[in-house]
Amino acid sequence: MSTKDYLEKDYYKVLGVAKSASQEEIKKSYRKLARKYHPDANKGDTDAEDRFKEVSEAYDVLSDEKRRKEYDAVRSMPGGFRGQQGGGGFPFDIGDIFGQQGGGTQPGGAGERIGDLFGGLFGRGGGGGGTRTTGTRRARRGADVETEVTLSFGRAMNGVTVPIKLTSEAACNSCRGTGAKAGTVPRVCPNCEGTGHETRNLGNFGFQEPCKECRGRGLVVDDPCPTCHGSGRATGTRTIQARIPAGVADGQKIRLKAKGAPGENGGPSGDLYVHIKVHPHKVFGRGGDNLTLTVPVTFPEAALGAEIRVPTFQGQPVTLKLPEGTPNGRTFRVKGRGAPRRDGTKGDLLVTVDVHVPQKLDEQSREALVRLRDAGTGDDLRSDLLQQARQE
Ligand SMILES: [Zn+2]
Ligand SMILES: [Zn+2]
Repeated sequence: MSTKDYLEKDYYKVLGVAKSASQEEIKKSYRKLARKYHPDANKGDTDAEDRFKEVSEAYDVLSDEKRRKEYDAVRSMPGGFRGQQGGGGFPFDIGDIFGQQGGGTQPGGAGERIGDLFGGLFGRGGGGGGTRTTGTRRARRGADVETEVTLSFGRAMNGVTVPIKLTSEAACNSCRGTGAKAGTVPRVCPNCEGTGHETRNLGNFGFQEPCKECRGRGLVVDDPCPTCHGSGRATGTRTIQARIPAGVADGQKIRLKAKGAPGENGGPSGDLYVHIKVHPHKVFGRGGDNLTLTVPVTFPEAALGAEIRVPTFQGQPVTLKLPEGTPNGRTFRVKGRGAPRRDGTKGDLLVTVDVHVPQKLDEQSREALVRLRDAGTGDDLRSDLLQQARQE
């Protein structure tokens, strides 16, 4: 059996069993199919003969635990590459993969052949990651990506489409993702036998964790590619247009579906999470869907009542009626002049009055205030306070 066979043939499919099938299930299925396609029962039918051979070959491998393990390891290897330099654990040689005897030993020629090999396995040469077409490999969802966007107050209120530059990992162009220097090939990690993970036992519990030897790749590189230092990955950048909805607030997190890292082997892309930062506005603040605003009013306006002009965000000012005797800090609601909501409606504008004490008084104002004081507008403000302070 060759590596090429392992790569190309899905023995589980041939036997019609799951990858997790027990030996019992494998045997049962094999017997059924072997009977069906047996040459004695299908005289002269070459299709049946081929099927019979396939079924037998699949059973040969899968019924042998050791060979089955090797087969699984080879098929699950990253990048679709399987092989090994020199002798050791795997029962196939490089010649099989290169389709020639003693492959990899010809000076000068080896590098090119490896190039061909990876070009074929990766679907197309130098294509950058994410589009490998080995067919039998498991589709994997791309990673979620997080990024941060800082917006002006106005852009956050109105919504905006911002270009976001994302760096993502792709296969290294120099080594086509193998991590091995041109002319060399990675070998199967002896620690995890190419699975990329190892099981750590803690009492009765086994934990699977990425293999430390190969850091989860399943391959070990002896001569690292000088471009990527053996990682097999290159950092690429791409720019996406992220639509930020109107009304986002500082600290919010926006999820943009499928705008994250591309999936592998046809898997879906991950999501992009955008953390929103919003520059504060000079006068407007945010409280949920509402905008907040503090307006200074004079003492006579608060005491006597007044109609004051109040700004709104990106709109005409509105007139706010302060009733007589408005206390400092009272908040008034201007409906529908707040931040936009998802449903298209808007929050409110909350206007809080800040009663100012005059800092400079002309003669006329002073006299007026003295008259106000002397009018003795009622009770001593602090009488209750002094009385209550004496209680225990
Ligand atoms: Zn490289
Ligand atoms: Zn390993």
